[in-house]
Amino acid sequence: MTLTKQNILTQIPKVDRVLEWPDVLQLLERHPRPEVLVAVRLILERLRESVRRGTQTVLPDNGDIIAMIASELSRRSAPSLRRVINGSGVVVHTNLGRSPLADAAEQAIHTVSAGYSNLEFDLECGERGSRYSHVEGLLCELTGSEAALVVNNNAAAVILALSSLAQGRDVIVSRGELVEIGGSFRIPDVMCQSGARLVEVGCTNRTHIRDYLEAISDTTALLLKVHTSNFAIVGFTAEVTLAEMSTMGRKAGIPVMLDAGSGCLIDLSPYGIKGEPTIRQYLESGVDVVTFSGDKLLGGPQAGIIAGSRAVIEPMKRHPLLRALRMDKLNLASLEATLRLYRDERQALTEIPTLRMLTMTPKEISLRAERIIRYLRRHLPDSVSLIRHPGESSAGGGSFPLLQLPTTLIEIRIKGASPSGTESTLRQTSTPIVGRIHRERFLIDARTILDNDFLPLLASLQEAVIMLAEK
Ligand SMILES: *Cc1c(COP(=O)(O)O)cnc(C)c1O
Repeated sequence: MTLTKQNILTQIPKVDRVLEWPDVLQLLERHPRPEVLVAVRLILERLRESVRRGTQTVLPDNGDIIAMIASELSRRSAPSLRRVINGSGVVVHTNLGRSPLADAAEQAIHTVSAGYSNLEFDLECGERGSRYSHVEGLLCELTGSEAALVVNNNAAAVILALSSLAQGRDVIVSRGELVEIGGSFRIPDVMCQSGARLVEVGCTNRTHIRDYLEAISDTTALLLKVHTSNFAIVGFTAEVTLAEMSTMGRKAGIPVMLDAGSGCLIDLSPYGIKGEPTIRQYLESGVDVVTFSGDKLLGGPQAGIIAGSRAVIEPMKRHPLLRALRMDKLNLASLEATLRLYRDERQALTEIPTLRMLTMTPKEISLRAERIIRYLRRHLPDSVSLIRHPGESSAGGGSFPLLQLPTTLIEIRIKGASPSGTESTLRQTSTPIVGRIHRERFLIDARTILDNDFLPLLASLQEAVIMLAEK
């Protein structure tokens, strides 16, 4: 070690001294002492390390050390779960919290969480009520079902339905529908957990009515169809329709269930999003019970919705698992508010962000990109260039895997920074921006930038310009 390095090292102040600096005393008034202590130790240790490695050749002045401590403290006191800006163009992005909520849903959460509520209290009779009563009527109205039940998420809905309908007995599923939905949701494993026995029929690409008929026996409890949400089998294929399965089930006296995955309450085909029947249409084809998510295409909070016949759903309401899978009051409040919007289709399409983003026309998105760029340019330095490019967004949430929606992308170029440097810096700002790199360009998709993202988008870009200049 050279003498100069040794000199600088001995001049780095001791922790106890730093804790007596007036500016640090001020930090101690705003942050818990153990946090300040950790931050001071960390910054001093980092400083010593850079001196040893030779990347720090002069002793920074006290002001710089204080700034480093303050920034470390604010980093440590920021919440871990935060708002981010979704520039990915994936509308229902599971890693980014799936569906952003409608204003009405957000308001409902606020109202119910700030005080007591009639969650399980029947205000008419003055007696104990059911938490499920708040949404059952709405769900029946919107799907045409006889009965409905909600649980924590669709995975819970599938487990509850299978446990209630088929524990210890056989469930027949096509080999073309044994799907895995990201994370750890795999139909064969879920089946095993519910205590039902999986009976696979047909082949990956083709399953016929006779395959089901040959497999039906005295121990068959259920015929299950699973939406092949996130993949498509093309070419030489054959599948048994839900209507055919329902006829088969009725003849054999065996209930038929559909795990619809995303679950749509509105026909989106007028908006170019084709091939997904609504839950009402599924039920009209004769299926006994359908399960689907609350936070995918529906655009509400995390929830698992079960809609179907009274005979099938009533036992689920008394099943011991229900308590463990039940939905909490905040999600229930926001689900109810979201479902209410569906009473008027036009209102649902304009006020539910997920539906709005999916049904935006290319023209609307292009104008939106124009607005974003104009707003940002007014406030950003010349070192930031914003360039429009045509591109494609996707629905996400395991729905419409082949669908590509025409969109407008905004390339963000920051002078002196590479696309990957820009990407990683924007990911570390106070409201992180999540985009993608394509052909050496960092891009964000105007479709998934929300109205209330404009201000944080600008602030994060300003922050990134400073962060990159310091590097
Ligand atoms: C998404 C999905 C699930 C899981 O739903 P969660 O609400 O995420 O629990 C189950 N089945 C299918 C077919 C799905 O697409």
